[in-house]
Amino acid sequence: MERRDLFKSLAAGAMAPMAAAQTTAQRGMPPLKITDVKTILTQPGGDHLVVVKVMTSEPGLYGVGCATHRERPLAVAAAIDQYLKPFLIGKNCNDIEDIWQSAYVSSYFRSGVTLNNALSGVDGALWDILGKRCGAPVYQLLGGKVRAAVPLYTHTNGRDFPALAEQVSKAREEGYRHIRVQLAVPGFSGYGVSNPTAPEVLKQRPTNVAPSPVFEPTPYVNNTVKMFDQLRAKFGFDLEFIHDVHERVPPTQALQLAKAVEPYRLFFLEDALAPEDVAWFKIMRQQSTTALAMGELFVNRNEWLPLVTERLIDFIRIHISAIGGLTIARKIAACCEFFNVRTAWHGPGNVSPIGHAVNMHLDLAAYNFGIQEENRFAATTRDVFPGAPEIRGGYLYSNDKPGLGIDIDEKVAAKFPYKGPGDGRGNDRRLDGTIVRP
Ligand code: MG
Repeated sequence: MERRDLFKSLAAGAMAPMAAAQTTAQRGMPPLKITDVKTILTQPGGDHLVVVKVMTSEPGLYGVGCATHRERPLAVAAAIDQYLKPFLIGKNCNDIEDIWQSAYVSSYFRSGVTLNNALSGVDGALWDILGKRCGAPVYQLLGGKVRAAVPLYTHTNGRDFPALAEQVSKAREEGYRHIRVQLAVPGFSGYGVSNPTAPEVLKQRPTNVAPSPVFEPTPYVNNTVKMFDQLRAKFGFDLEFIHDVHERVPPTQALQLAKAVEPYRLFFLEDALAPEDVAWFKIMRQQSTTALAMGELFVNRNEWLPLVTERLIDFIRIHISAIGGLTIARKIAACCEFFNVRTAWHGPGNVSPIGHAVNMHLDLAAYNFGIQEENRFAATTRDVFPGAPEIRGGYLYSNDKPGLGIDIDEKVAAKFPYKGPGDGRGNDRRLDGTIVRP
């Protein structure tokens, strides 16, 4: 057979099944146009929430997604309203991957927290719409449940050890096996527990320091090691303890801390290093067996990929909306599975209940799930978000409804307008006035 004839023959053979496949696909999922994209700003609790609602050409069918960047919510709203909305109207809701990829590069510069959050809001809404059209919860679209419910870790803290121990005992009685523990350093400010700076500490400052709470790494590290010693003495080694350093100490002291708490066998030590210092993880890994979790500030794949592929962390703790939403998060989870890095998606109050629903669907379907951070929604927040995942006995449960299984009641949301443009993070400073990250 001539080469040209062979090509014609092959092409004819290939075309027939391709055409049939397209017809079947179109029969199964007819195109559906995006007709509008709405940004909803609401503050039913302490946090500024940003929610996206994608409307479709099918009357009454819409999806919702989380685009919450609590500290800069109005910047995200502008990115959605001014740029993403005109980009999206008229596009086919079925094309979730194509929309993610094209929107991601539509700004040319990308991987910033504002644009990623805007994209996450749209992306979550498209998965919600797909689930509703299929009559299936999103976890089903991701491959189905590999666990019945999602184990949670809860937060505890205390200004002194007895207060912390009381909270730990209570959490254990409520059914939690994974507990985050944060203890105040006497006289100093710190992360995860409110503690005023003592007057005798303020007296140690030089003159002309900008007023601020005072944080010092050395008393914090000493106090934290002592806390774990007391916790294991009181509660034994069967409870899983988590602690968040919140990137506040210099790398060498983070290394000292990771080594010093090794005998207390933490479930994980969180954000021991700042994103700017991730290269130190290689040194930390070589010197300590303390399990490490990292990543709530990551926005770009190049920040986490080496930590995963070189097996330098145990848990990936990305804030899903900050990296662009479910479409990219499910790929991160799959990538991490091959390196046996487990998921621990960021999930405090600065993730909207819709974002928590996204976390939950991924938690239910990902084999390499590790743990989920808990947030107890206020009653007013639940009123704004009907269908928010339920917490019972240390687990998060899906309502198994199609899509994300959660909605936003816009009329109730409107009763809770923003009280300001968005919060900043507090500015703790060291004794000499140096700013502490973050
Ligand atoms: Mg954290």
